[in-house]
Amino acid sequence: LAACGGSGAGSTDDESTDTGDGTTTETEEGGLIGVAMPTQTSERWIADGNAVKDGLEELGYEVDLQFANDDIPTQTQQIDQMITNGAKALIIAAIDGTALTSQLEAAAAADIPVISYDRLIRDSENVDFYVTFDNYKVGVQQANSLLVGLGLLNADGSEGDATGPFNVELFAGSLDDNNAHFFWKGAMDTLKPYFDAGTLVVPSGQMDIEQTNILRWQQETAQRRMEDLLTGTYNDGKPLHGVLSPYDGLSRGIITALQGVGMGPTVAEGLPVVTGQDAEIASVKSIADDVQFSTIFKDTRKLAAQAVIAAEAYLKGETPEANDTTTYDNGVKVVPSFLLESDVVYADNIQSLLVDSGYWTEEEVASGV
Ligand code: BGC
Repeated sequence: LAACGGSGAGSTDDESTDTGDGTTTETEEGGLIGVAMPTQTSERWIADGNAVKDGLEELGYEVDLQFANDDIPTQTQQIDQMITNGAKALIIAAIDGTALTSQLEAAAAADIPVISYDRLIRDSENVDFYVTFDNYKVGVQQANSLLVGLGLLNADGSEGDATGPFNVELFAGSLDDNNAHFFWKGAMDTLKPYFDAGTLVVPSGQMDIEQTNILRWQQETAQRRMEDLLTGTYNDGKPLHGVLSPYDGLSRGIITALQGVGMGPTVAEGLPVVTGQDAEIASVKSIADDVQFSTIFKDTRKLAAQAVIAAEAYLKGETPEANDTTTYDNGVKVVPSFLLESDVVYADNIQSLLVDSGYWTEEEVASGV
């Protein structure tokens, strides 16, 4: 991935100049912007962070980019520090969407605009703008790709030849991430008619987000839950045909568990259809190899560009343009949002969606790194 590969930059000092009369003026760099990303364990956030940083630096801003290891206190400290360092704007992808209230109060008190990045920051008045994808639609796409894998639907949306019934298991993301609820809702609304008709069955009976969620989107936790499902529900030889997975890291954990009991190793050889999200390179290779079935491509370059546009608008004293002002209620207010579109990736469109657009190179897809 072109924008990928670096680690977080260290803190930088605000480049303002003391005029001697107690006020400061901006140097031509345009000031410091804090960018808080959740973790480096998933490559998408590294790509996001670097793309936002590069975009802002091109416009002459200084950037303090931080990753928080999925640890809430680390993220709150990083944001406190950004405010102390004189950040002129904050771009935040929260770990726990509800854990930043006091940081945001401090930001508001200092007139620092806050842009919620990809994940909605909840329960705070002090969120100015939200850049993200259409998260409900991502869930719909995930469910559709499961249906395509099972043959119930064709990739063009028309009805498939298969009749079922098929056994599936369901996974959701982290409950403290607002997106997880949107993905789940989009997916469950799409699958409901098939459950109602008996075309899809969840043999474990675990169909509630309280039962299916994976805290902090951890791969190992997903692997363990899949192993438990296999031992608890499928040890009598009952077939499993598909698994709804909302993120590539979880998908890889799930696939490890499935292959661990001798399924597959490829879809053609009986591995259940497993969905995903983020087009992580290991999963893209896995899809090319007929192991993982699908993923959702969210072009982080486009999201980063929107975050940069929004930050620049605020720093010029303007308001960024929203294309959705009704969907994202954070519990206190509806946050004006800019939503981007996502695409479903299957083996046969890796080239057109991911390689031709320069997101991954052919070599990366072949090697998986
Ligand atoms: C993002 C997904 C990502 C997940 C796990 C979500 O908030 O929208 O793209 O798969 O977090 O990192």
